[in-house]
Amino acid sequence: MKTVFEKSVKGRCGVMPAALDVERYDFDADRLRDGLVLPELSEPEVAAHYTALSKRTFGVDDGFYPLGSCTMKYNPKLNEEIAALPGFRDAHPLARADKMQGSLAVIDTLSAYLAGITGMDAVSLQPCAGAHGEFTAMLMVHAYHRSRGDEGRTKVLIPDSAHGTNPASAAMAGFEVVTLASAPDGSIDLADLRLKVGEDTAALMLTNPSTLGKFEKHVLEVADIVHEAGGLMYYDGANLNAVMGVVRPGDMGFDLVHLNLHKTFSAPHGGGGPGAGPVCCKAELAAFLPDPQVVRDKKGFRFGRSDWSVGRVSAFYGNFGVCLKALAYIVTLGGKGLRAAAETAVLNANYLREKISYFYPVGEGRCMHEFVLSMRKLRDETGVTALDVAKGLIDRGIHPPTMYFPLIVEDALMFEPTETASKETLDAAAAALKEIVDLAYTDPAALHSAPHNTPVGRPDEAGAARNPVVKG
Ligand SMILES: *Cc1c(COP(=O)(O)O)cnc(C)c1O
Repeated sequence: MKTVFEKSVKGRCGVMPAALDVERYDFDADRLRDGLVLPELSEPEVAAHYTALSKRTFGVDDGFYPLGSCTMKYNPKLNEEIAALPGFRDAHPLARADKMQGSLAVIDTLSAYLAGITGMDAVSLQPCAGAHGEFTAMLMVHAYHRSRGDEGRTKVLIPDSAHGTNPASAAMAGFEVVTLASAPDGSIDLADLRLKVGEDTAALMLTNPSTLGKFEKHVLEVADIVHEAGGLMYYDGANLNAVMGVVRPGDMGFDLVHLNLHKTFSAPHGGGGPGAGPVCCKAELAAFLPDPQVVRDKKGFRFGRSDWSVGRVSAFYGNFGVCLKALAYIVTLGGKGLRAAAETAVLNANYLREKISYFYPVGEGRCMHEFVLSMRKLRDETGVTALDVAKGLIDRGIHPPTMYFPLIVEDALMFEPTETASKETLDAAAAALKEIVDLAYTDPAALHSAPHNTPVGRPDEAGAARNPVVKG
């Protein structure tokens, strides 16, 4: 397909500007830019170009998107309408607080809901992604220990099944990362924890349920061990979709949490779109949250500041539009609805897992909202890898699951169907997987060469990430 630049025809135009009805103003020559090449096309050509491009990709609105750990649930369009209401959309971030009471009420209301859902006391909506929330929370952990004169806490404990952003965030905040081993069932190895925890422990970062889709059954004991040593418990909330409305991180012994509004709370994401990674914390840590905080007094909402704050972590107040979508979602579902969403997400994952377990063994016991398959046996017997299976799914209209993660599972494929997949969709996915496994034994070459219906088949992914070519 040609780029818009290749389709450009000199002098063609998509708009007809109205005749000038004000006095002409000529800029000084040094203010004018020359040499800027822009494509010249008519409006129908632009519409056709971008519509064609949009059909060559795959998004949540195209079909099943079981990308593990990313919670690619359907995003209700109502949320977009709410976020686009002119009073919110056109609000100026530098407007005075007394002119912005509605927007500040949104921040205050969403914060209160998130505190309720997580069992925490205070919230900042500023961080713009999960990883950004992790980093903010690690800065708070650092500030908390320093405020108590406890300078020797330099280490953060992180299980080996964790998302890569956990060690990255801890390291960026200046901590040394200590990796904890997993027991064979995927839970934390308590003996290893006891060995590594100590007076130098600043915090433990835990994802629960873990990226293996297992609930950490020793979580209360883990929290006791870490707290007794003087460390803080940090909850990576990326998997909250499995437990919201059922259990709360605050009741599991956690002190700080980040949430991914763009996963659990239905803001569209992927392709680098805007997200939000609010940080919620217990009262003892509230003073360290990013500034400014929305506070309420007799005259209404205003911005408050704390001497202990880690400071601002993003321009203005975070991705406000994403926060509006999350608030619309929470208010639409209500408490019972959120719980039902989590329960259905877990049911869907177990249904799919059971359906494929008869032709593909997938480990012991029930899962939470996601599960991990190892393609090791298939690879050893047929030469077909996890990557080949993922590419085969693309040919069958299904977005690939997360691949080669978590790192502790060989040839991993991680499926997260979410609550918005129907039974028919799950049945079709199980049938597609069965077809692929059968094909692996009869015609493995057909999978090595998949996908067959996409403009690009097997890009050099590492090369694309290291040396991206982002312009024509
Ligand atoms: C997605 C995810 C993150 C990071 O969140 P981003 O919003 O992508 O920065 C962290 N931990 C886990 C377990 C995740 O799935």
